[in-house]
Amino acid sequence: MGGRHRYPVVVAGPLTETPTAEILAIGSELLTPFRIDTNSLFLTGRLNDHGIELLGKSVVGDRPQALVEALRLAVGRASVVVTTGGLGPTDDDLTRDAMATVAGVPCHEDATVLEAIAERFARRKMPMPAMNQRQAMVPDGAAVLDNPHGTAPGLWLPLGHSVIVALPGPPREMKPMWETHVAPRLAVWFGMRHLRRRTLKIAGRGESHVDEIAAPIYGPLRDGSPAIETSILASPGQVELHLSAKGADVDALDRALDAAVCALSRAIGAPVFSVDGRELEEVVGDQLRARGGTVAVAESCTGGMVLGRLTNVPGSSAWVTGGVVAYDNLVKVRDLGVPEAVLAAHGAVSELVASAMAAGVRARMQTDVGVGITGIAGPTGGTDAKPVGTVVIAVDGPDTRHVVRTLRFPGDRAMVRQMSVQTALDLLRRACAEDCM
Ligand code: ATP
Ligand code: MG
Repeated sequence: MGGRHRYPVVVAGPLTETPTAEILAIGSELLTPFRIDTNSLFLTGRLNDHGIELLGKSVVGDRPQALVEALRLAVGRASVVVTTGGLGPTDDDLTRDAMATVAGVPCHEDATVLEAIAERFARRKMPMPAMNQRQAMVPDGAAVLDNPHGTAPGLWLPLGHSVIVALPGPPREMKPMWETHVAPRLAVWFGMRHLRRRTLKIAGRGESHVDEIAAPIYGPLRDGSPAIETSILASPGQVELHLSAKGADVDALDRALDAAVCALSRAIGAPVFSVDGRELEEVVGDQLRARGGTVAVAESCTGGMVLGRLTNVPGSSAWVTGGVVAYDNLVKVRDLGVPEAVLAAHGAVSELVASAMAAGVRARMQTDVGVGITGIAGPTGGTDAKPVGTVVIAVDGPDTRHVVRTLRFPGDRAMVRQMSVQTALDLLRRACAEDCM
């Protein structure tokens, strides 16, 4: 340990205007199929709260050379390097030594830490194993972060314009140490900064369509003060616009983000279904609850997936009555009252059948709204007139309203089913919105 001092160990604030971070999850077990690095998800969220942007994260095994190299690289480019793991008492716990090597400083035995570890063992009336003494070794220049839930203390080692924060691996030790020691130190180190986010969720419009409308609004947002970063995320049947802003003044960030959400919502219009994190089924639930309404669903090609989404919402028993999976035509006739003649004349995938399914389930379950879905999810069963991906969705009610749509979805069976569910929920939302809002 020790050797040449490659970097001066000085206490200095960061160089960059926007602080950046790297996370190193240390432990060979994290490179097996049996353990997953979850610490970095927690740490990413907490670093973002301080307005610190993540440059990267890595998982490194318990190998001295690999660890030193990863640390050196991280320190070279980020203002904060947070490590978890490898602070234990065994030979394969290498974080302390690697930090000292990268900083070019020796380690010393810290009497206070040693005493705390000895006391921990004494309290449990257990002899302290000699190897736990290793945990009292502290790189010169590092501050010790007390660990009330374990023997491994954390370390805070300033290094030029960066700082290495070493925390233990067990989440129940690491998380409270972050709140108690790291968060307040970062607030002082960088000055208190915040990162605030908003999300607009959109259904029934494709990514490029949304982007076309939103793009003229993005520009001024990015150049504004505070600057608002935007990104667009698409999944089958749903597009999300993510907005974020960083700075010291939380109120100013919130005001700017709320104004941006307002401008984007106005431009995109009815396809925006939530700006507060709610999913489609939660929005539908809130609408129905507000009017004391109920819904029932008749599903063919989605086999119960719509009802699954609706009943995922806690408290949905207040507004979901039930449903029928009418996969076979026999069930459509027997349990939903779809006329056999209509099935014969128009086929199961037709607007008349979807409408009859919606009206049938509504009447039989005595709800305010009924939804009917029938389609060809594939890969077989398509015809020239009704190719794979043809789905018909009807919403009957509330009151005398009735909507029916024939759709052509791209993609494989899973994709067609997912798009069908999204579209059904969105049509349901729109039917209820116009009536009760
Ligand atoms: P200890 O004193 O417990 O040895 P340590 O700092 O050496 O502390 P590790 O031995 O690396 O920590 O990890 C202990 C346990 O903590 C692991 O077996 C694992 O269950 C959990 N753990 C470690 N790293 C992570 C991580 N990145 N994400 C989630 N859990 C982790
Ligand atoms: Mg360990």
